[in-house]
Order: sequence, then structure tokens, then C-alpha cells
Amino acid sequence: MAVQSMTATKTRDIDATVVQVQALAAAGAALVRIAVDTRRDVEALRQIRQQTSVNLSVDLQENYRLAEQVAPYVEKIRYNPGHLHHHERNKSWKDKVRYLVEVARDQDCALRIGVNCGSVAPELRGRFEPDDAVSPMLHSAGEHCQFLDNLDFTRYCVSLKDSDPARVVEMNRRFAERRPNVPLHLGVTEAGLPPEGIVKTRRALVPLLADGIGDTIRVSLTVPNDRRILEVQAGQEILEDVAAGRLQSESGMPPAGLNIVCCPSCSRVENEAFVDLAERVRELTRYAQDHALTIAVMGCRVNGPGETDDADLGLWCGPRHVHLKQSGRMLGSFGYDEVLVRLKEELDRLITQRQREGSLP
Ligand code: SF4
Repeated sequence: MAVQSMTATKTRDIDATVVQVQALAAAGAALVRIAVDTRRDVEALRQIRQQTSVNLSVDLQENYRLAEQVAPYVEKIRYNPGHLHHHERNKSWKDKVRYLVEVARDQDCALRIGVNCGSVAPELRGRFEPDDAVSPMLHSAGEHCQFLDNLDFTRYCVSLKDSDPARVVEMNRRFAERRPNVPLHLGVTEAGLPPEGIVKTRRALVPLLADGIGDTIRVSLTVPNDRRILEVQAGQEILEDVAAGRLQSESGMPPAGLNIVCCPSCSRVENEAFVDLAERVRELTRYAQDHALTIAVMGCRVNGPGETDDADLGLWCGPRHVHLKQSGRMLGSFGYDEVLVRLKEELDRLITQRQREGSLP
């Protein structure tokens, strides 16, 4: 069982990224993921590779075509089925995955099919009941596995991540039942700030690991770069607790109340004020902690727009502005200092409205 983590430094800041990769590995990470979006990132990755022997995985979001350039420098490539449609829209996802498989085979890389709650392939939306978030993700993972199987490519694993621990448990149990031989990487996406982010992750991972499900894990935490190794330490504690049979406190449903969902940040984060913003959102909203509402805080436009759709209030960061949404509807873009005032107004309005409707105490 291996613990993974991901860098959050700018990939093109080679020195800072090497330092973070080494720190994560020294803390016990068996594999460190790095985001690569541009040719400049690829060149940085080449130089990072020269300076570390740590197992590296690369995270390709929209720009799947970079695979052949990054593959010589990494052990694994993670692709997200839900992001394959962004570029070359006239090309089918099967052609794109066929290309990824060719690259992985040529360069002796593994692949991860990384299915994420906020970026399910558009053609799958609408094929399932609107309130069924699990089936489209399971379907997406299943069809990609089948396709890789048909290509006779076996070096792959799957991740099925959601910000809701209960869904992570359900999805991974169902997937493991159907495909027991496919390795699973487990995690709760956008688990958020510690300690809440660790608690959420434990709620999902402890019962799965106790049932023998999962091969690698990550605890995705919203922390500043100098505390990044907390992800690895938290992962190791989970593994130690499961090995020692300390499972009891993690079972059951989380208490109803305000749920703050935050991405862990990565190289793509648009403004370094993101982690500070997430902490300020938590402080500002403490007064509402007994209300069963979700606030999502995301670091960039790659996953921000999609992953704030399901939240009651969502904030996603641009370079100078924070975009604020309510239940998927854009309310506007505000400066980093202004957005909290507007957030509080909207939160108060929402609490009053829900109380009137009787859906909040
Ligand atoms: S939302 Fe953006 S910054 Fe945050 S982890 Fe995802 S890709 Fe990285």
C-alpha cells in the first residue's frame, strides 16, 4: 500500500518543485504527481527528472497531447476521461485514449484513469437520473477499463473521487465488486483544510481499506506549500490505524452541518492567496456551522467552474478575481478582499431563505 501526494508549487519553478518532491518523498510518499499544462512545464519536468529519482506521475487535464513529451520523464500518466473532450472535439475519446496507450506502451509508463465528480464526460450527463452522481462515474471508469482491456493494455489503475466520503465508499465498493483485479487509487477530492479534510478522508478510506479495497491512497489537503508533507503524514496514519484495527471512530455518517469543500491546490492555482482565502472562508462562516450547506472553494478555472456547480455557494479563483456562484449560477467576480463581504451576504440570504422554506432548522 503506497501513499501518494502532489506538488503545488509552480511546475516551471524547478528549484521549488524539486524541493517539494524531495520533501514529500522523504516524508514517505511513494509517488509524487506533478501538473503539466504547457511546453514550458514539460521542459521544467525534464529538468526536475534530472534532479530526483522519486517516482513521478504527471497530471494531464485538457492537454492530452502533451503525453508523448512528458512520458519519458515519469512512471505514470494520469488522464481524466471528463477532460478529453476539451481539445480536438471532432476526435473521439477512443482515438485519444488509443494515443495515450501507444505513448504509455512506448515509454513503459503506467496510466491512471482518474474519474472525478466535477468533470464527468458531457455525453454521460443526461444518461442517468439527475440525482445519481455515482452511476455516471462508475460507467465512465468501466468503459475506459474495457477499452484499455480491448487494447490489451494492463498497466493501469483507476481512481473514483468525490468530495463526499459516503459516495467515495459506495463508488469504490461497487467498482471493486465489478472489477476486483483493477488496482484502485483512493482519495476524497477537495477534502479541504485540516483537520476537517483529514476527518473526511478517514471516513471514506478507513472502511474501504478495512475491506481490503485500495492499492494507493492520497489525502488531498488545502495547506500552504511549507506544510505539504501533512498529506503524506495523514495518509500514513490512516494506513497505520487500519493495520492496527483502529476503525471504530470512522464509521457512520458525518454530522450534518456546514460543509466546506476546498481543492488542495496544485501548480495550476491562479493566485497564491488561495489557501489564505480558504482559511478566511472557514473563519468567516463559523457562525453558520450548524446549517447543512456546502461552500466550495477552488483554486483555478480547470476544475473550479465544474466543481462549484453542486455547491450552495461556490468560489473559484482567477488571477485577480474570485468568481462567486450560488447553486451553479454565477453571481459575479470580486477582488480577493471584496469577495468575503459578498459571500457573507449570500450566506445570510440563503440561510434565511432555507429557514423560510423549512429545509434548515
Ligand atoms: S482546482 Fe485547480 S488548483 Fe485546485 S487542485 Fe484542481 S487543478 Fe489544481
